[in-house]
Amino acid sequence: MKKYKEKEWLIENYLKKNRTLTDISKECGVSVGAVRKFVTKFKLKKRVKIYKDKDWLYDQYINKNKSCIDIAKQCNTAKPTILSYLHRYKIPIRNLSEATKIKFDKLYELPQNYEVYFRKGYLFVRLPEGRNKPYHVWIMEQEIGRKLKSHERVHHIDGNKLNNNLNNLFLCKNTSEHRKIHFEIERIAFLLIEKNILYFDIKEKNYKISKNLVEDTDNQQGQLRNEKPSETTNGNP
Ligand SMILES: [Zn+2]
Repeated sequence: MKKYKEKEWLIENYLKKNRTLTDISKECGVSVGAVRKFVTKFKLKKRVKIYKDKDWLYDQYINKNKSCIDIAKQCNTAKPTILSYLHRYKIPIRNLSEATKIKFDKLYELPQNYEVYFRKGYLFVRLPEGRNKPYHVWIMEQEIGRKLKSHERVHHIDGNKLNNNLNNLFLCKNTSEHRKIHFEIERIAFLLIEKNILYFDIKEKNYKISKNLVEDTDNQQGQLRNEKPSETTNGNP
């Protein structure tokens, strides 16, 4: 008996594997009509292709910022199909730089049973099994799809240990690579001292941005005012 005449086989291939009638008919060496006859006979209704729903597609692409590829995977179809429906519904398609920005602005949502808390300058997550993990480590692990190796380190690019946005995290392959990055930023800070952009305030026992520089840049939107003075190596963001 031809496979397409068996209900179980047809359910498996047509519904579960989401194969097309054409695809199945080719495999069985019969016409599309012959396969369709059995699909009708067994009353196998395919799920409505959800991406054809304009509101649903809009919500996924615009509100939820999902990529075409992610939506396509979710719908068991290909990227061009999703793109063509975005065009059809006149949903504005993001250009590469917009798409990249979204990718890096992506914040991983914690599952509801995970709790976040603050300790010693870092955010931590309490996992359901009772163990703890630095939040930035957890985020990086979600991004790379595996646990960090024991020698890997996650560096906060802007020095703000609470800024766990993905675009602020850099995965170092080991502690020496991480240390090198910190030495480098320290080296640059000393260059800024040489150029009188930074100075050491003895009373306050800390580095400061030179006053006249702050005033100079007042008319240039004061870009440097928001920057923090260089920290000593004690902090290890
Ligand atoms: Zn670091």
